[in-house]
Amino acid sequence: NSKRVINFAAGPAKLPAGVLEAAQKELLDHAGTGVSVMELSHRGADFTKILHNAERDLRDLLSIPSNYKILFLQGGGNGQFASIPMNLMGLRDAHSADYIVTGCWSAKAASEAEKYGKVNYVLPKLHKYTEIPHPSTWNLNPNASYVHYCCNETIHGTEFHYIPETNGIPLVCDMSSNFLSRPFDITKYGLVYAGAQKNLGCAGVTLVIVREDLIGFANPLCPTTMDYRTQVNSNSMYNTPPCYSIYIMGLVLEWIKKNGGAKAMEDRNNLKILSVYETIDNSDGFYVAPVKEEFRSRMNIPLRIGGMEGNDSLEKKFLDQAHQMGMIQLKGHRSVGGLRISLYNAIELDEVEYLVQFMKDFQQANQ
Ligand code: PMP
Repeated sequence: NSKRVINFAAGPAKLPAGVLEAAQKELLDHAGTGVSVMELSHRGADFTKILHNAERDLRDLLSIPSNYKILFLQGGGNGQFASIPMNLMGLRDAHSADYIVTGCWSAKAASEAEKYGKVNYVLPKLHKYTEIPHPSTWNLNPNASYVHYCCNETIHGTEFHYIPETNGIPLVCDMSSNFLSRPFDITKYGLVYAGAQKNLGCAGVTLVIVREDLIGFANPLCPTTMDYRTQVNSNSMYNTPPCYSIYIMGLVLEWIKKNGGAKAMEDRNNLKILSVYETIDNSDGFYVAPVKEEFRSRMNIPLRIGGMEGNDSLEKKFLDQAHQMGMIQLKGHRSVGGLRISLYNAIELDEVEYLVQFMKDFQQANQ
């Protein structure tokens, strides 16, 4: 364990040590079966139990009622950018959907949706994704099939701290990078989706939670495996599911439960974020967070050193020294540059304190 570094990656991201240890312990022999989870039949009783327990834990953690179906799918967030319009555009005859574009991921979702219907851009094109325009300025279409948004833009570090009001139009949310970082009321949504590789496990499985009355409207050209009805009817097993990724997700859900559930995750995440933002805000402009305060993400913090535009050589020095001190993946996304600190559930408080102390020392030595 001593060889492990602190991984501040945006995803794939750090997994709780206890999850990796549990997986390691039974890598060769899962629950006395004599085989690895990777070698189990997906139709057998042992894997069925893994899938069933993951669904049960998820329902418990978020109080998900039975009229919401839980699907464990493949294809990632990008797969859902296509599946959603293919399944939901047909909810209304106009085949038109509203997209609230607040960053790269929601922009990508909207442009994919254009292949399958009309896309109404709710916001004028933003020059910089550092804020979320007030809902009073939104151009929502009362006849939209659904309204799509991304509640945490992983690259730009903006997060919705409220649930948009859509006046009865089904609300669809990309929660890939903040799912289970706090509790939320699923009944406000038509569909929520998240790739697992940030807060929920490893890449390979994509979670979709969909209200049952929205199922059954797929475009006739929708591939059978991507039709929510097919997957609901076959309990996510129309084709072979990503068994090992589902297993890891199950271990992560167990870990969240053991550690107090979604509210406890939120409280811990708030402490983590407070300590990082305090360091930034008290740095006299040495560290700059470009996102306006009320839209700051609790999961991903983009950051510049030495002014708004950043000082490339100082930033490189920071990354090199952090690396020497056992902290990795602090480089910003290539499209925005600078640094990015990701603080998903698995990041521990003492890891954040270690980073914050390094930030303070680095400032003192370099300003
Ligand atoms: N949505 C968000 C918010 C993301 O952060 C990502 C991945 N970083 C995606 C969608 C795309 O996910 P995938 O790579 O699983 O397709």
